[in-house]
Amino acid sequence: MSAFAQQSKVAIAIHGGAGTILRENMTAEREAEYRAKLEEALKAGHDILEEGGTSLDAVVAAIQIMEESTLFNAGKGAVFTNDGKNELDAAIMDGKTRNAGAVAGISTVKSPVAAARMVMENSPHVMMIGAGAEQFASEQGLETVDPSYFYTDRRFEQLEKIRNTEKSQLDHDGDSKSAEDKRQGYLDKHFPDRKFGTVGAVALDQNGNIAAATSTGGMTNKRYGRVGDVPVIGAGTYADNATAAISATGHGEYFIRSVVAHDITAIMKYQNKSVQEAANTVVKDKLVDMGGGGGVIAIDGEGNIAMPFNTKGMYRGSIDTEGKVYIGIYEDEQP
Ligand code: ASP
Repeated sequence: MSAFAQQSKVAIAIHGGAGTILRENMTAEREAEYRAKLEEALKAGHDILEEGGTSLDAVVAAIQIMEESTLFNAGKGAVFTNDGKNELDAAIMDGKTRNAGAVAGISTVKSPVAAARMVMENSPHVMMIGAGAEQFASEQGLETVDPSYFYTDRRFEQLEKIRNTEKSQLDHDGDSKSAEDKRQGYLDKHFPDRKFGTVGAVALDQNGNIAAATSTGGMTNKRYGRVGDVPVIGAGTYADNATAAISATGHGEYFIRSVVAHDITAIMKYQNKSVQEAANTVVKDKLVDMGGGGGVIAIDGEGNIAMPFNTKGMYRGSIDTEGKVYIGIYEDEQP
């Protein structure tokens, strides 16, 4: 670390999705690939911060490395919709200005997080969707790709598996069930694979500004133009210098209904709680009560980092204000 960086506190945290991530289902080789890619993304963001770059630049750089990796459900390697397409969502928020940008349901922009940033910086809007968002991104000079760029065999096989299960499953969602049971039945049937590979990053720069960004392919087998929490500002992504920057991963519907990211900042603000306490309350109590699986990464203006999740694992990593690098996948790996 340079002498300059030691004087100015910078920190970064990233995630690559939460879910039923178990040691027994992982090969040593695959685990090493995840750890290496997380570390590469962390370092890319951290280098920018050390050189005096902004937290916005850092979160975008970290995310773009994960978008380009097929390991994660974002950019290349995104999950498939029910009709065999990749529809990507992303968001970014600047904690200093509370300006924000988001895109949803796009299929031709190589880096969805870059598109979200363009919406934030070069348009009067906060969210753009589908063809309009793609047109805007291309007019802004962002790299566009054929939708097939996002295809991977692994994700397509995941879709096929679910489609086959759906076909062979009878609908047991009887009328006697409660609305919540019906919801769970529907989710089990159509979204049996509760592994969330969304990527996100939060960072604190040398000027004391924090930022958050998130990028995802959504959920395997989604249909009807379904959009999750990621591009919904306050749900999957939020940043405010006065409290914290947050990026979430998990079952989007629950994260939207719980307004997860903003709720964490509200608890900090109105109940004077630390980022760790507030993030734990929302992820480990409130979301669990509702049935929403997932996790968040959060950083406050002092560089304190929280990474709670209520699933078996979460791909995650951080470099704290002391420069200490941490990478974790499973539940029992604490910083
Ligand atoms: N939160 C994302 C969504 O619901 C999924 C994920 O975290 O992987 O679209």
